[in-house]
Amino acid sequence: MSESLFADASKRLEQALKYVAISEDASTRLKYPKASLSVSIPVRMDDGSLRIFQGYRVRYDDTRGPGKGGVRYHPSVSLDEVQSLAFWMTFKCALLNLPFGGAKGGITLNPKELSKQELERLSRGYIEAIADFIGPDVDILAPDVYTNEMVMGWMMDQYSIIRRQISPGVVTGKPLTMGGSQGRDAATATGAFYVMNAILPKFELLPAKTTIAIQGFGKVGAPLAQLLCQAGYKVVAVSDSQGGIYSAKGLAIPSIQQYKSDRSGIKAIYCKDSVCNIVEHDIISNAELLALDVDVLVPAALENQITGANAAEIKAKYIFEVANGPITSAADQILAEKEIMVFPDILVNAGGVTVSYFEWVQNRSGLYWTLQEVNERLKEKMVAETETTWSIAEKFSVSMRTAAYIHGLNRLGEALDAKGTRDYYNNKSFV
Ligand code: GLU
Repeated sequence: MSESLFADASKRLEQALKYVAISEDASTRLKYPKASLSVSIPVRMDDGSLRIFQGYRVRYDDTRGPGKGGVRYHPSVSLDEVQSLAFWMTFKCALLNLPFGGAKGGITLNPKELSKQELERLSRGYIEAIADFIGPDVDILAPDVYTNEMVMGWMMDQYSIIRRQISPGVVTGKPLTMGGSQGRDAATATGAFYVMNAILPKFELLPAKTTIAIQGFGKVGAPLAQLLCQAGYKVVAVSDSQGGIYSAKGLAIPSIQQYKSDRSGIKAIYCKDSVCNIVEHDIISNAELLALDVDVLVPAALENQITGANAAEIKAKYIFEVANGPITSAADQILAEKEIMVFPDILVNAGGVTVSYFEWVQNRSGLYWTLQEVNERLKEKMVAETETTWSIAEKFSVSMRTAAYIHGLNRLGEALDAKGTRDYYNNKSFV
């Protein structure tokens, strides 16, 4: 794609700006990231050699509170991608009314090529490099693609070593024993499930007669498939980076999950073994999964999966974006023409950062909540903001994506304007 990811992401802001009454100062500020840091991280590899990795942290906006966002380990990580992800976090946190701004970090690497010890040295090295840029009241890290609880534990530990004080609030998504929250591991999936359950009945899509395809059977896609399956929805296709499986009758998600974790990958399911006996299925590619004739499509992998090149092939009637940025703005237009409804990432996948907020609150108060408390509070927030976004979409006759940006923008605009606007300064009287 010739256009940068950030240029494409910014188009959503432009569309929403037409419907909000925020000051010109505020809208101008939101077009630029507040601060971007690019670092080189030296790592001693197991064979004794030294390798330098490229890392980033972008704080897009912190008007509503400290920056908040995950750290991604992936070969395609670039400053443009991290900046776009930080931009999405800004709107996501505002949309869910969390007292945070938006940030994101990443390191360019294929984590599967590193040993655990090398990954630990790299994670600690990243914190060494960005320690002055982050903090529990400045910018708070979390997991993202290919980072997990263990990586968050190393990061929190390294930051505490540097500061010479235990600082659990600098990282969320930590192991429970290091101040993590109940429910954080499955929070993105749980939140997406609450949004889908609030939306699907509006279209009379009741579980038993609703077919769903999920692209991405990882940290988020797999638990979401499980929740949907438990609720009685027919999950007919799932995939990972290697490929996918499809069964018109519906897949046996718990056994597939078990199989994938035992044998690392859905590819292992292409066998003639037990899972194949539980339910007959066809092997499909990721591209075929996206084009399946299902009611609901859930992209839960990476960005730029549905683009101008393949949007015309989509047959699902409803798309829930569980990944960040899986649909480009060019694809948005094609999907709208085909009357396919898209429920946007900044709403659908906001369960992760919402429970991250709960974790940060628990770290600060020292009082820890039960799983039930976490999930009740998560449900309340996800459903309330989904309904408000729905009403905004109806009021202005706009897409759910534009409505979500309008909702977030109103809160961001108010916060930015509270610091003073051009009108305020031009007015000569004191108040
Ligand atoms: N990486 C997740 C996201 O994109 C979670 C961020 C967080 O918990 O801060 O929303």
